[in-house]
Amino acid sequence: MAPVNVATSAGQYPIHIEPGRLQRIAQSVPGNATRLVIISNPVVDGLYGAVLRQALAPLGKPVMTIIVPDGESFKSLDTLNTIYDRMLAEKLDRRAVILALGGGVIGDMAGFAAATYMRGIRYMQIPTTLLAQVDSSVGGKTAVNHPLGKNMIGAFYQPVSVDIDIDVLRTLPAREVSAGLAEVIKYGLILDAAFFEWCERNVAQLVALDADALAYAIGRCCELKAQVVSEDEKETGLRAILNLGHTFGHAIEAGLGFGTWLHGEAVACGLVQAAVLSGKVLDLPAEDIERVRQLVRAIGCPDVAPDLGQDSWLDLMQGDKKTEGGEIRYVLLPGIGQAVVQAAPLDKVQETLEETVGN
Ligand code: NAD
Ligand code: MG
Repeated sequence: MAPVNVATSAGQYPIHIEPGRLQRIAQSVPGNATRLVIISNPVVDGLYGAVLRQALAPLGKPVMTIIVPDGESFKSLDTLNTIYDRMLAEKLDRRAVILALGGGVIGDMAGFAAATYMRGIRYMQIPTTLLAQVDSSVGGKTAVNHPLGKNMIGAFYQPVSVDIDIDVLRTLPAREVSAGLAEVIKYGLILDAAFFEWCERNVAQLVALDADALAYAIGRCCELKAQVVSEDEKETGLRAILNLGHTFGHAIEAGLGFGTWLHGEAVACGLVQAAVLSGKVLDLPAEDIERVRQLVRAIGCPDVAPDLGQDSWLDLMQGDKKTEGGEIRYVLLPGIGQAVVQAAPLDKVQETLEETVGN
């Protein structure tokens, strides 16, 4: 498959999507890199670190590996500091290149390390979760969490390449696959009705990790995200449509405690809630709402929202970053494949919660 190109103000970079891409990673390494720094966690390094180092060996460049603990709670300034400590102790210069090997946690943190080490060095994204392959590795948002908020310390900083090996998804827990598929169907809903239909027809193959189906779906998602990001690199407008389902989803994640539901699971349920609200505000037809619900079920994600109490639902949605002057702005669907961002009347939101929250 031809690479997907992402155009940004700083130039363009390729996304390579292939089975076995890890073995050919040397093709993406910038020729003038002095040293290579793999940043990963024990789980992913244990599975794929050796393959990566072997694939880099023919380049004859020194390779060091920095392992940070696994998990969202380690996407922190403290962990970042341990990365800087190692890089400075090893006297890495500005022509060193970071290779982020892992899911979104590693990609976001390694990307931010690259953005800030000596005012910025180059980095390559090697995403190993489905969510990271279709979402977090593309677009140049890098960050760590702060005790007062997720992703609050970060930078827009684009990688030199994204290398997606779909074979690595075979070791991903099924729940993580389902969560990643939530973001996949989101792209169809906001931008591409034909792709949504394709997902409906191919959902069994996707869940079963069929290589052709995955390569097609990941490629299409990267193309769609690349288009949106190229038009709105720093999220001042269009990029907000990527948050379909995320206002409801954020309330679920925060209300149940982060990590109780995976992000993608909460987003999947939020897609159903956003579709129901779209029915009330923009007349999205009932059969389209049902298609969203059926596809969310088919990817193995929850379609009934947890009870957080009606008041706390509204408070929690208010706490989401996407509010403007206290008014909640929702991504809504006038039809499948089209998205708008707007406020919604409170009574319609309340009706939506009554209809979508279970007991
Ligand atoms: P994650 O990085 O925590 O990975 C999930 C789990 O899967 C981890 O335990 C990881 O070790 C394991 N894992 C990774 N690859 C594996 C593989 N191939 N086989 C087996 N296990 C594997 O979670 P995630 O869902 O990839 O990413 C979530 C993060 O992404 C959040 O911090 C979120 O804020 C961020 N994010 C960023 C953007 C962005 O635009 N930058 C977009 C969406 C999400
Ligand atoms: Mg998301």
